[in-house]
Amino acid sequence: MNFQHWRELVALLIPLTLGVSVVSAQPQAASKNWVAYASPLQGTQSSGGFSRGNTLPLVARPFAMTDWSLQTGEGNWGWWFDPNSRAIQGVRATHQPSPWMGDYGYFTVMAQTGKLYMKPSQRTSTYRPDECVIQPNYLKVPLRRYSTTLEMTPTARCSLFRFTFPQQETGRVIVQMEGKSQVQFDQQTGTISGLTRTKGDGTPDNFAFYFAVRFDRPWKRVQLASEDKVNETVTQLEGNQIGASIEFDSNTPVVMQVGTSFISNEQALQNLKNEVGTNSFDTIRMQGQQEWNENLGRIEVSDGTPDQLRTFYSCLYRAHLFPRMFHETDATGKVVHYSPYDGKVHDGVSYTDNGFWDTYRSVYPLFALIQPQRYGEMVNGFMQSYREGGWMAQWPSPGYRISMPGTHGDAIIADAVVKNIGGFDVKEAYAAITKHANQPSSQRGAGRNNIADYLKLGYMPGSVSETLDFAYDDFCVSQVAESLGLKEDAQKYRQRAMNYRNIYDPSVGFMRAKDAQGQWRTPFNQYEWGGPYVEGGPWQSTWAVQQDPAGLMALMGGKERYIAKLDQMMVEPPRYDVGSYGNEIHEMTEMAVTHFGQYGHGNQPVHHILYLFAAAGEPWKTQYWVRRVMNELYSPDGFAGDEDNGEMGSWYVLNALGMYSLCPGRPEYVLGSPLFKSVRLHVPGRPDLTIQAPTNSPQNVYVQKVTVNGKAHDALWMPYSTLAQGGTLRFDMGSKPRVRDYGRTPELLPHSITQ
Ligand code: CA
Repeated sequence: MNFQHWRELVALLIPLTLGVSVVSAQPQAASKNWVAYASPLQGTQSSGGFSRGNTLPLVARPFAMTDWSLQTGEGNWGWWFDPNSRAIQGVRATHQPSPWMGDYGYFTVMAQTGKLYMKPSQRTSTYRPDECVIQPNYLKVPLRRYSTTLEMTPTARCSLFRFTFPQQETGRVIVQMEGKSQVQFDQQTGTISGLTRTKGDGTPDNFAFYFAVRFDRPWKRVQLASEDKVNETVTQLEGNQIGASIEFDSNTPVVMQVGTSFISNEQALQNLKNEVGTNSFDTIRMQGQQEWNENLGRIEVSDGTPDQLRTFYSCLYRAHLFPRMFHETDATGKVVHYSPYDGKVHDGVSYTDNGFWDTYRSVYPLFALIQPQRYGEMVNGFMQSYREGGWMAQWPSPGYRISMPGTHGDAIIADAVVKNIGGFDVKEAYAAITKHANQPSSQRGAGRNNIADYLKLGYMPGSVSETLDFAYDDFCVSQVAESLGLKEDAQKYRQRAMNYRNIYDPSVGFMRAKDAQGQWRTPFNQYEWGGPYVEGGPWQSTWAVQQDPAGLMALMGGKERYIAKLDQMMVEPPRYDVGSYGNEIHEMTEMAVTHFGQYGHGNQPVHHILYLFAAAGEPWKTQYWVRRVMNELYSPDGFAGDEDNGEMGSWYVLNALGMYSLCPGRPEYVLGSPLFKSVRLHVPGRPDLTIQAPTNSPQNVYVQKVTVNGKAHDALWMPYSTLAQGGTLRFDMGSKPRVRDYGRTPELLPHSITQ
């Protein structure tokens, strides 16, 4: 981000210049405008070969059903927003959770003057980032080609656009879909509606995304077009890339309301009624600002540099985009949703778009602290896949999709259960997770791959990542069984959670794949990625034993050797062999450009590893490294690699608070090194929690002493219940590590199965 943009952000910290009446409507209690620190552009400077986040500049409400983004390129997959391009095609209504998963249910809105150009590549306009405002709740883009200013402000399922056209000219609004689509307009009601069938794989045939638009004045003319061929006579058109051009004679800004729905055009209008009604653009914009400030303000940071604050609140904003709500409220006030699993409309909430393999690590442990109610609702929403499709989705987007090993939705459920988050039926969730822990999946995009082999052998032949992920998932199942009082089940799954031991090869000192006959895979190369290791190699994958660091330590020959190996990982040259990938994948590049050895923070498998130092009783090493990662691998501009649905952002937020969930599924956080001197967690319905570190500084990264409400806290972990009760957690910081011998004292060290 350039200096100009930063100046603009600073200007926005000063009360927004929306006119006196709107500003005075702002509640006095809203002490700080946190949203002004959040930059949707963070992480967008990315490509398939080198990711600084692979994010989109999403303008949206928290967990919105529909997001909005600038579009510089076409297509349903990948990198259709390039921050280096100066030619925008419009603002896209989008649902893309990641470039690797692609978009579904999308259309684009653009403003224009002069001759009509429908084609995205022909209608582009130059824009200058220094003239734009891109904030979570508001977008403003002057279109230099057309002397027109486009503004947009969203609600959860709708948005308002405001177009300021040049005086004495005809202004035009274009709404256009890609793929199989349909548009119609009704002169009498002044409504234009349509649908697009662009969808990801794994959704039912009747899948469609609907929209309806209305204006604050009658239009002069509407023309429908298929691709760029305008049809002057029809009021309804079906085909490929259908769009509408709507023209106005106006010297005042034209306001357009856009409703979206996965159910019907009528429901899209209903969503407009529910969320926008007769409210003005500025009122909706202010409501969006308030909603974001209410959510971001659940963590109030009192100090820090401008860069740290911008990084922190941009990360926190990223944590509030996914999973998205997939439910809507009908005309009778009932919450309903279209099911991407069976194609029918059902009652109740539904959530989707989440890579559980990524998000379980940090997003949900953060939600447990600041969004507990929403967290419970999300789990209930994820259960719709089990209710409607018979299997819990493994990577919902929006229906069953295949991606990544394991069923880490188990961890999201287990973490909620052990923390008493509530809001969902634990017995039903247990039925869902024990189904995929035991039954070969009859549903593509659900369950565990070749579970029968795992059950028979105690490991997955040929795969390290699947074996480790399955064993950790088994641990999560055991935690839910335990809380339901199912002692035998709990014991059985706890035993299965030890299966990681079956693939540790002491002769090489790493996890290593075995074939079905029990023979080690040869040759072994510690730098080789792929094959048995998903998005990593032996260095990155061996540590995925969150449930039992003490057991892993024993396997590795004791504390000294285990610590030495962790130390080595941080300084080992970042070599890699492309292995079964055949060529360099972006995660390799992202590891190799940083100065953290084989610790590739650009991808999720290593995200708990720095806390394994604390688990072994050397927390000062955790403190040293996490501060370096926060300072060196995060910025207001980007991340060390794919952000992945809030995961990379939540890692930063938790670590800035001085903690991390080493093992989701256990009701505890391991302590790290807080970034700020004072932070207040302010969650509705809970007492405030203040986290203080008054002697903190860039040099004072080492924790000397921890107290909770004035009482000494010697353990290296903190129970969730203590944090949820509020009060004051205080870290005394110093510039020298406080080295002490923790031995293997279970009450001081994070929990392990074999402790
Ligand atoms: Ca990733």
